[in-house]
Amino acid sequence: MANKRILVTGGAGFIGSHLCKKLLDKGHEVICLDNYFTGFKANIEGLLNHPLFRIIQQDIIDPLDLEVDQIYNFACPASPLHYQHDPIKTLKTSIQGTINILDLAQKNQARVLHASTSEIYGDPLVHPQKEEYWGNVNPIGVRSCYDEGKRCAETLCYDYYRAHDLDIKVIRIFNTYGPNMHIDDGRVVSNFIVQALRGEEITIYGDGKQTRAFCYIDDLIDGILRMMETKKESFAPVNLGNPEAFSILELAEKVIRLTGSASKLIFKSLPEDDPRQRCPDIKLAEAKINWKPRIRLDDGLQETIAYFKKVLG
Ligand code: NAD
Ligand code: UDP
Repeated sequence: MANKRILVTGGAGFIGSHLCKKLLDKGHEVICLDNYFTGFKANIEGLLNHPLFRIIQQDIIDPLDLEVDQIYNFACPASPLHYQHDPIKTLKTSIQGTINILDLAQKNQARVLHASTSEIYGDPLVHPQKEEYWGNVNPIGVRSCYDEGKRCAETLCYDYYRAHDLDIKVIRIFNTYGPNMHIDDGRVVSNFIVQALRGEEITIYGDGKQTRAFCYIDDLIDGILRMMETKKESFAPVNLGNPEAFSILELAEKVIRLTGSASKLIFKSLPEDDPRQRCPDIKLAEAKINWKPRIRLDDGLQETIAYFKKVLG
């Protein structure tokens, strides 16, 4: 495969930074575009001197003009804490930002892989979630800026495909964790690890019986790269996540055990519209890209704990 010129939006964030590194390792030229809202230079520090790496500090809601062969569209805050900080901006990022990316792709005849999310299923009534499920989303709640923004971004991808024959790939990512998450990210895995390492109380929202399925970053990156290589005709959205679900209480117990922490649990109120359960059906990913996660939660947590130990000094 000839080396390509690849744009990664959100490249300084958690997932984007791993993606930039992997693409450079494969010999591609990588342009990382980020406005540093939730991303950090520290995540891409090791790449800054790479001759094939370039950073553009820009917002995707502003017009873009670049020459590229492929685009990974990952720019968008993903933690409920951060996407609710400025909900109107979150919607603009998903909608105007995605329009800008799709226009850029059309101009370049570039292939686009768009990062959608399990949140498009909302508080799902079908379990586990298959791609055909249309979801159960509150259109006017505090999570809607993210959920509906991401649903609209999917619609835009498919309308550009129908109207302009654009080569699009849509992945629906389920809860993913690992190194390069920020200590103040606010999502559950990083919160629990940082609290345990600091000896602070572990904050359980609600009764902790709600469930999530956690995918380690290396497994996700493998799935993302496989998806980008699929044929143009193969354009249905695909779930990427680990199908083994745990309750939030089980996660807290694991983190306490693996860190050897003396932290105690503290129960706080459950955020509005917090989904009760979420777990991917990944049969489509298995059939289409021969992918399934390989890293067990305990092993992924050990890697992530080691990372946060270093960050916290
Ligand atoms: P993150 O917050 O670490 O990274 C997002 C990156 O996008 C950051 O670097 C941020 O500065 C940048 N960004 C945000 N708004 C921008 C804008 N308007 N213009 C330019 N850059 C902007 O989050 P992440 O976990 O790495 O998520 C990356 C993508 O994957 C997001 O689109 C998210 O919705 C999707 N996703 C992630 C998960 C997960 O579990 N991590 C799950 C589902 C979907
Ligand atoms: N959660 C929690 N304590 C925290 C952070 C999150 O109990 O410190 C819960 C949250 O209410 C949700 C689950 O953990 O039920 C996953 O939350 P996260 O923000 O990681 O992602 P979500 O799946 O909600 O998008």
